[in-house]
Amino acid sequence: MKTFPMFLQMAGRHVVIVGGGEQAAQKARLMLKTEARLVLVAQELDAELAGLVAEGRAELVTALSAQVFRGAALVFVATGCVGLDYAAHALAKEAGALVNVVDRPALCDATTPSIVDRDPVVVAISTEGTAPVLARQIRSKIETLLEPGLGELAALAGRLRPQVNRQIPQRERRFFWDWVFGGPPRQAMARGAGRAALKLVKDRLEGAGAGPVQGAIALVGAGPGAADLLTLRALRLLQEADVIYYDRLVDPAVLELARRDAERVFVGKEVGACSWPQDRINAVIVAAARQGRKVVRLKSGDPGIFGRVTEELESARAAGLPVEIVPGVTAASAAAASLGRGLTERGQTDRLLLATATCKPGDPEPDWAQMLQPGTTLAVYMGVQKAALIVDRLQAAGIPSQIEAEIVANASTPQERVIRCLLSGLPEALDQAQITNPAVIFLRWPKGAARTVVKSAAA
Ligand code: SAH
Repeated sequence: MKTFPMFLQMAGRHVVIVGGGEQAAQKARLMLKTEARLVLVAQELDAELAGLVAEGRAELVTALSAQVFRGAALVFVATGCVGLDYAAHALAKEAGALVNVVDRPALCDATTPSIVDRDPVVVAISTEGTAPVLARQIRSKIETLLEPGLGELAALAGRLRPQVNRQIPQRERRFFWDWVFGGPPRQAMARGAGRAALKLVKDRLEGAGAGPVQGAIALVGAGPGAADLLTLRALRLLQEADVIYYDRLVDPAVLELARRDAERVFVGKEVGACSWPQDRINAVIVAAARQGRKVVRLKSGDPGIFGRVTEELESARAAGLPVEIVPGVTAASAAAASLGRGLTERGQTDRLLLATATCKPGDPEPDWAQMLQPGTTLAVYMGVQKAALIVDRLQAAGIPSQIEAEIVANASTPQERVIRCLLSGLPEALDQAQITNPAVIFLRWPKGAARTVVKSAAA
């Protein structure tokens, strides 16, 4: 940066403009937006500038001397005469002033930026003279972003700040201001309803005295991957959320649907990266909601299925925070849809069992043989690494090895893969096809298929 942007204090100070023509008038118009007193140094003034003096909005000095520049916040020189410009510049410098000589960059201590003015909100743009057209383009973009009432809203905020500081605890203030500038007060001000905006803010302030602004937590099912398998409720919550905590299996396409300025925090496990322990996840979710933020904890599939939802529910409830579960399409449902068949089949499988092969460390091994009975569809989650063990246990219990296994990996996503094999060949089939998690393994034992003789030597 050859130049550095600063906002100069203008109230109670004066600005000197040397010159009486159109260029001087341009600077005068600009300076009249500020609270500075205007001093014009010229022997002749054009009609506009003369009018300012007549109205008492500017003071006229006819003699050029260093004295007039003393203590000036800024000096503009625009006489239209080279010699006079140099002379005025020298005197102003002698008086220690910050000088801008119009159209003579070599004589400028400071330049005027392109300005978007929503006083007291002011945006200054500079390209250091490299690209004035670009500066204009940027300016028009910002002009469209900042609606006319914005300055009034900022001024209102400034007036209410002491009251807000008294009434709203510090950790909730940011949320309050987020609401003022991103919510109904801003919308009201934008449509010109200043009084309505003020009333909204005041009502909220009075309500705030009764208790802290409260956040909320939603444990939301993101579905199996495809964004259009999201529920409408999940979509609404994603669009309302201030912050979204998501894990590894949540498809990026789903996150895309969230409010653009929502904060997104990855809390999953990734190879090589450190993982978030569950209690840390619980703690950050609660902390965010306590700040009054709307929190979405986005979990793959249905949050209530192998999603450790209980821990998150309990920590939210223990903190006295409102918490809800938004169900989602679980992986088994999506996987069965990919196979083009139901999870249950009348007369064949009347029982559906969802089981995980990855339990809490130290827990006893699941009793697979007890789960897979005639008439059952068993959907195994997180089972790819445990497939050989599951098959062993089932075969040892005499389960027919001609039972068919169906595996769906990445159901509903572009990476989806389906393989079918006999129960006995499951580990090899997974190996050969290089199937990894996420995958659901279906084992179906239709009614009527006979149990083979138990191999166990115990009998
Ligand atoms: N709550 C999730 C399950 C989380 S456990 C749900 O209801 O679906 C993670 C396991 O879910 C994965 O190891 C895998 O077994 C299964 N899974 C998740 N997404 C899947 C997908 N798109 N296709 C197949 N299996 C999936």
